[in-house]
Amino acid sequence: MNKAQQHSTRAIVNLKTSHTSQTSVHSINAFADQGYLNTEDCPQLEQVAERFSVAITPQMLDLIDPANPNDPIAKQFVPNVLELQNHNDELRDPIGDTQHSPVTGIVHRYPDRLLLTPVRVCPVYCRFCFRREHVGNNADAMLSSDELQAALNYIREHDEVWEVILSGGDPLLMSPRRLQEIVTALENIRHVKVIRIHTRVPVVDPTRISRQLIKVLKCSKAVYVVLHSNHPNELSANAQKACAMLVENGIPMLSQTVLLKGINDNPVTLEALMRTLVENRIKPYYLHHADRARGTSHFRTTIKEGQELLRELHGKVSGLCQPEYVLDIPGGAGKVPIGPNWLTANNDNGYTATDYNGCQHDYKDQYTDTCKTTLD
Ligand code: SF4
Repeated sequence: MNKAQQHSTRAIVNLKTSHTSQTSVHSINAFADQGYLNTEDCPQLEQVAERFSVAITPQMLDLIDPANPNDPIAKQFVPNVLELQNHNDELRDPIGDTQHSPVTGIVHRYPDRLLLTPVRVCPVYCRFCFRREHVGNNADAMLSSDELQAALNYIREHDEVWEVILSGGDPLLMSPRRLQEIVTALENIRHVKVIRIHTRVPVVDPTRISRQLIKVLKCSKAVYVVLHSNHPNELSANAQKACAMLVENGIPMLSQTVLLKGINDNPVTLEALMRTLVENRIKPYYLHHADRARGTSHFRTTIKEGQELLRELHGKVSGLCQPEYVLDIPGGAGKVPIGPNWLTANNDNGYTATDYNGCQHDYKDQYTDTCKTTLD
């Protein structure tokens, strides 16, 4: 075991035995003061924090099990010296946002939809984030007023844009007043029919889901909230209440999950997460293969492992609980579904379908027999 690996196994050995946290933790010292890091690791972890922002909310701190050295919440947010390791194929901008950004704050990769990123900060900093070098301390917190107007003008001028995805950073960190300005501007663009908001807030800072915010989201366009959630432990009673508030006010919810080694890459956890989401009226949408962001290789599974997990999930749980397993092609070519292959072409003008038990069945989709006019 090398030094970095030793550090990784020690990363949360000093967890306190109990705590109720009041404030967010934003620095290596604060993580160490709260008992989440070994002080001897701090110099290296300071290097991590110089490259990638660090933060965790009190709500997430309180969900960490101090007795569990592999706690799935701690692993997502507590900085680790393994983040200093880089591989040649890891990228600063793994999904090529920059090359699809015609103006600041817009990523226009697909014809009918685009991302609007008005805010570049988050309430937590996920250690595997694919935008980790573009959010947080290294970025301006918000688009300036001029930048926002230019971004909105771009949307106005592109009448093929049917859907605007607010992403970031976390757009629900904006005040309801600021969010209202953006939603109202989008409401007034006739060709924009759908506003989708990608957020971690209902889980990591549920008290932000307020009546005022709901009022903003209940607008004349279809608004969808996509929750980023990776483990069932994240869905605390307060998080579930926040999601219920959205759903009961007519805001449909979807989810996106990142497949993460040592956190949710097993069938039991994935099943529990997907069932919990659906029970809370949140439709699982995407399961992302972890992107090649720098310093994140310790979180990545292989695609084969992901496909096996999906195959197992397919056999066990309702179709409502099935997310689409997707890869964002490195460099910016977009997402592709990479789930298990259930159907292969055979030599007999047909296909072989594999069921969830692994049994194979022939299927012909062209008729080669003579058509009969009577039934047997
Ligand atoms: S909340 Fe989203 S954008 Fe922010 S650090 Fe986590 S994954 Fe990245």
